[in-house]
Amino acid sequence: MLSTAELDAAAGRLTALTDLDQRVARVAWRLSTANADLCPVVRTSAGWALHSARQYSLDLRPHAESRFGLIGDLPGVLAVPPDSPAAAAGFAPGDLIVEAAGAELNPGDGESAPSWTGLERNLRVIDTALASGRTTFMVQRGDDRIHIALTPERACGYDVQLDPSDELNARADGRRLFISTALAEFARTDDELALILGHELAHHVLGHRPWNEAGGAARRANDGAWKAESGGGGAEQQADRAGLYLLARAGYDPTVAAPFWRRFGESNWRVRFPQIGHASAGSRAQALEAVEREIEAKRRSGGELRP
Ligand SMILES: [Zn+2]
Repeated sequence: MLSTAELDAAAGRLTALTDLDQRVARVAWRLSTANADLCPVVRTSAGWALHSARQYSLDLRPHAESRFGLIGDLPGVLAVPPDSPAAAAGFAPGDLIVEAAGAELNPGDGESAPSWTGLERNLRVIDTALASGRTTFMVQRGDDRIHIALTPERACGYDVQLDPSDELNARADGRRLFISTALAEFARTDDELALILGHELAHHVLGHRPWNEAGGAARRANDGAWKAESGGGGAEQQADRAGLYLLARAGYDPTVAAPFWRRFGESNWRVRFPQIGHASAGSRAQALEAVEREIEAKRRSGGELRP
């Protein structure tokens, strides 16, 4: 049995986690739609963030179930960015999706160990339905079952995922962008969050590949090493530069970049000094100030913002 204090602590952690999820979804959606013309992989998307009861640890799960009405592996609506197709269609956090385009989703086998697998299978059914355009969903909302039709929008084709972790890091693999809860919390504003996610998205836009996939040196966990196929500068410097353009194109403020990296350097000893693939936080800040001036000059001359 858990004590009342332990239950309250778990409820508090769930609130903090879902608040972050909603922030990350909001910023990711703006970056993904504003830069769809630059992304090598695009899809038609609802813009929402979905979650399932099964993905939560056993202490958080009862709170997630009661707060969001989640059941097993069924996708529930966690976040609805204000300018997304999901918002336009009238979806709200707490809606549980039970059917997509007539295909019933699978609530799972009732196993209790935390897992994403069943949710991911259901998400593939939803993505397939959205790929063919306007889609009708059957949704459990409180005691009612209702139909909601949604017209998806073109966006970069990558999922953004929040990783519960105390480490300050973000990374990307071929399909997803990840940001740790600690780093998302460290970002004080949506502009700073857009700086981090913009950098990771830029690796995709630039066609970089994780170093280990390229058959290079063994990659330390989370070291963020990327390989550039061509062009000057290291992959990280290229992603810093292009990422700032992606941020600006999405309407966020590029002047947050240099102060953010300086503050990051002060609080994180590992980035005060250069490491493999990464310049020190100070020289990163300096390089980004130059890109900021470049973007400002292009804006003033009415030039197109392309990295
Ligand atoms: Zn990077």
